Amino acid sequence: MDCVFCKIICKEIPSDIIFEDDKVMAFMDIRPVSRGHALVVPKEHKADIVETDDDVISDTVLEAKKIAAAIQHALHADGFTISTNRGEAAGQTVFHLHFHIIPRYRRDGLTAWPHQDTTPETRSQIAAEIKKQLL
Ligand code: AMP
Ligand code: ZN
Repeated sequence: MDCVFCKIICKEIPSDIIFEDDKVMAFMDIRPVSRGHALVVPKEHKADIVETDDDVISDTVLEAKKIAAAIQHALHADGFTISTNRGEAAGQTVFHLHFHIIPRYRRDGLTAWPHQDTTPETRSQIAAEIKKQLL
């Protein structure tokens, strides 16, 4: 399969692995957003979080929580951001589920997402659309 993360998982291409068990692997991001940026992936290939079985997501996220705390302590970071992208529109470039662990440092200059003002009417209307889908 032509998937760079599957190739890392089967050690076909090198990476800086920081954790591995039978289900999950974590390795350093090749183009880090901040010092210590790591990726946590399930060994099973699935394109993104929606395509992945709940038990696999659960295993991966629980490991990501542990690894993120370890990274924060090891690198004396001040916190961390955990995120995952689904789809090109969200910025996904590797279509094998992965959780980014981005250590955060005070004054790291990583600006927050741009917030927008809304009206109560707009918020209610959007909430209603979403709730219909959740029924
Ligand atoms: P995303 O844009 O959410 O799909 O994230 C993909 C991430 O994978 C990016 O942060 C890349 O820098 C990272 N990446 C791509 N190729 C490699 C690789 N060979 N080793 C480590 N990280 C990689
Ligand atoms: Zn893969």
